[in-house]
Amino acid sequence: MTLLLDDPGLLRQAALIDGAWIPATGRASVTVTDPATGAAVGDIPDCSAAETEAAIAAAEAAWPEWRARTANERGALLERWHALVLENLDDLARIMTAEQGKPLAEAQGEIRYAATFIKWFAEEGRRVGARNIASPERDRRIIILQEPVGVSAAITPWNFPAAMITRKCAPALAAGCPVIIKPSELTPFTAIALVELAVRAGFPKGTINLLTGRPQAIGAAITASPVVRKLSFTGSTRIGALLFRQSADTIKRLSLELGGNAPLIVFDDADLDLAVRATMASKFRNAGQTCVCANRILVQSSVYDEFAARLGQAVAALHSAPGTEDGATIGPLINAAAVDKVAAHVDDALAKGAKALAAGSGRRDGNFVRPLLLGDATPDMRLAEEETFGPVAPLFRFGDEAEAIAMANATPYGLASYFYTRDLARSFRVAERLEAGMVALNTGSIAMEMAPFGGVKQSGIGREGGEAGIAEYLETKAFHIGGLEF
Ligand code: NAP
Repeated sequence: MTLLLDDPGLLRQAALIDGAWIPATGRASVTVTDPATGAAVGDIPDCSAAETEAAIAAAEAAWPEWRARTANERGALLERWHALVLENLDDLARIMTAEQGKPLAEAQGEIRYAATFIKWFAEEGRRVGARNIASPERDRRIIILQEPVGVSAAITPWNFPAAMITRKCAPALAAGCPVIIKPSELTPFTAIALVELAVRAGFPKGTINLLTGRPQAIGAAITASPVVRKLSFTGSTRIGALLFRQSADTIKRLSLELGGNAPLIVFDDADLDLAVRATMASKFRNAGQTCVCANRILVQSSVYDEFAARLGQAVAALHSAPGTEDGATIGPLINAAAVDKVAAHVDDALAKGAKALAAGSGRRDGNFVRPLLLGDATPDMRLAEEETFGPVAPLFRFGDEAEAIAMANATPYGLASYFYTRDLARSFRVAERLEAGMVALNTGSIAMEMAPFGGVKQSGIGREGGEAGIAEYLETKAFHIGGLEF
């Protein structure tokens, strides 16, 4: 490995089971490559079903002591982890850019964002409380207890290699649940570095376990285990549905953060400069590879040409380059399959009448795809039906509000949605009618630690962040006390 770090100890080629690092050398392993260059970043163990069971047993053994700690004690460890993540921000970002491709500045932003979940849930854990509810009898009391659900597993995708880990693990640990983490085999080193810092922070052995490698055996063992009480998954709807089925026999608690197909609506009374800035942030973050990226940009006919012209200028200013290069704003896509999917969507759209609005854009070179603005997109195109997951912004025309809402909701997904207007009544009408877990009015940013994040329809079940985020790791117990003498 040639990655230069201030602390090379963060780049471990190992999984963590019961406090012991299991190295990748001399065993079944997977090589991780840099999507910008194809160069190897390192090897990770390809963990087996038996190793998954060992991690589950370690977490089970760690649970009684971990849940017995006070919320303050658990919070103090999370605070220490948070501080270490920020102290090592540059190294963590370098690791992320090497394996995931996003520009360094964006990787640093993701580390800061990932750290906010650790801090927020360190504090939120202290606010989990019991509740005494009105009793139907004088000599009875009923107390509602909130208890940790138990051993929890987190399966996470490659597009946010740090934030998807902390968004799940911080609330689980704060609630008193030990965790088993399975990061994407494409971006495991960020997760490994985060876990190394958690070990340094002092989490007891077995409370955090990290399994690396191909997902099938690990996923099957996790879902089949009755010891694992909770699975939180972020990834595609296809794999989410598979894990849902696999979890049925053990009646597992599930959080599923799945795919999206976000509409972004620009009404004719919008502040167009604001709409352009927000569209750029929503559409092109992480080279368009986020579940909340605007996938369909719906523009009212009367402002369509003006909006397209202004957005075109902003798209032309993007700089597609390796994430380590100064000024890069669009890195490579994660792999060749991702490039192929984007290319197929663009070819399909052009064949069905879409127009490329900027010369030379959309050009492909290895895993790099130059940003592309497409005009005259229509609902029969593949990019209207599926996540494109790339730097392609298709513009659709609409006539009135009712048509915009109908177009926005014409998808089996319901994760993020965005709209731009200055009309107060319209703001409420549209916000209430959009079928989505998150609605953004006059902003392109919706992901933050204090707000619930998640989807409806085939975008998932459950919420991460905010109060709802820790509730996903808590069971409710009704404690009935009778025979009290008054
Ligand atoms: P993916 O293929 O579903 O993979 C997600 C995770 O599941 C990875 O860790 C993957 O492992 C693992 N996995 C794959 N097959 C599995 C199996 N049979 N059993 C257990 N685990 C399995 O999704 P992706 O392509 O990495 O991520 C992109 C998707 O995630 C998009 O659809 C995006 O919208 C969605 N996403 C949603 C949110 C949200 O909050 N709603 C956030 C980010 C991304 P390997 O990578 O090792 O194969």
